[in-house]
Amino acid sequence: MTAHWIADRTRVFDSSGIRKIFDLAAQMKDPINLSIGQPDFDVPEPVKEACIEAISTGKNGYALTQGMPVLRDKLTAQVAAEYGHADRKLFVSSGTSGGLVLTMLSLVNPGDEVIVFDPYFVMYDSLVRLAGGVPVKIDTYPDFRIDVQKVADAITPKTKLILLNSPANPTGVTLSAAEAEGIARLAAEKNIALLSDEIYRKFTYDEPFVSPARFNEQTIVIDGFSKSYAMTGWRVGYVHGPAAVIDTMIKLQQYSFVCAPQPAQWAAAAAMDVPMESHIAEYRRKRDLLVDGISDLYEVVKPGGAFYVYPKAPGGSGAAFVEKAIANNLLIIPGNIFSQRDSHFRISYAAADSVIERGIEVLRKLAKK
Ligand code: PMP
Repeated sequence: MTAHWIADRTRVFDSSGIRKIFDLAAQMKDPINLSIGQPDFDVPEPVKEACIEAISTGKNGYALTQGMPVLRDKLTAQVAAEYGHADRKLFVSSGTSGGLVLTMLSLVNPGDEVIVFDPYFVMYDSLVRLAGGVPVKIDTYPDFRIDVQKVADAITPKTKLILLNSPANPTGVTLSAAEAEGIARLAAEKNIALLSDEIYRKFTYDEPFVSPARFNEQTIVIDGFSKSYAMTGWRVGYVHGPAAVIDTMIKLQQYSFVCAPQPAQWAAAAAMDVPMESHIAEYRRKRDLLVDGISDLYEVVKPGGAFYVYPKAPGGSGAAFVEKAIANNLLIIPGNIFSQRDSHFRISYAAADSVIERGIEVLRKLAKK
């Protein structure tokens, strides 16, 4: 009889779709796993050493709420060199997710509308609702490009925030400079907050990465070390944006997450000096391996970044196709987890080549059936 203990706000979204996949996955023996949202390479040695050193030398207490100077000053200098915006402040969050939660709690009043591009990273929809906001979905199928006019048409007096993510999860699609500029200028003109989730920024393969912050000084940017340095379990992210917004987020962090783990912050500072280009080149090659392996049989947009590919499901239903894939020992994610549509599925190529090759084999077999 504990059901009435549960707060109403937790009922605004459910996670049954992804739970179903996890349940099916748990029954698989040695699956061909192309479902993973984290790199398959290990944390670089100097980063591990810096963390061990921090722990051994007693850097184990609470970190400053806004982040340890060793990391925060280095990130602030990097961001200042890139943008040179006068009113840009930065703090260290408990992962990019922590930054996302604090953004919603800081900006979204009940009833506020938040523009989200469909397909979207799962957390966006849930966190907007948790804050009492209303996600307004803009459909980007079939090419997953952003149509600035569609965004302009979706804006109402209640629009508070636009959520951008490039390179994107689950499509891997990257914003063009024209799209970034168009959306950045629209947000500025309408005085709407713009959040740019740049967690896959280092995984950009074809064109140089473009942030909307280049065109709109008030853009709130979230980024982190989870994907770029394979530190998903270490929980270090950062947010930079207008000082008044960042100060509010730091205030909320003080009474929620408190801080990002201190030893991990020392390690993240060391990570900033570790070149990752060879890993990125590997992932570009893996992208090509997968896309070239299936594009004659699947309708697929060649992604410019992240480590996902988002093809259309033969037969029309992503969910039904994923069940078939799982029956053939291939674990992938149905698109309806990330979308109002159930027409696609997500493949992650953050895996060994041998696993990607086995995955391609199954996908080719399923497409021909
Ligand atoms: N944003 C996007 C688009 C992501 O894909 C993820 C991780 N799956 C996150 C944020 C959260 O990352 P973190 O580990 O830094 O919380």
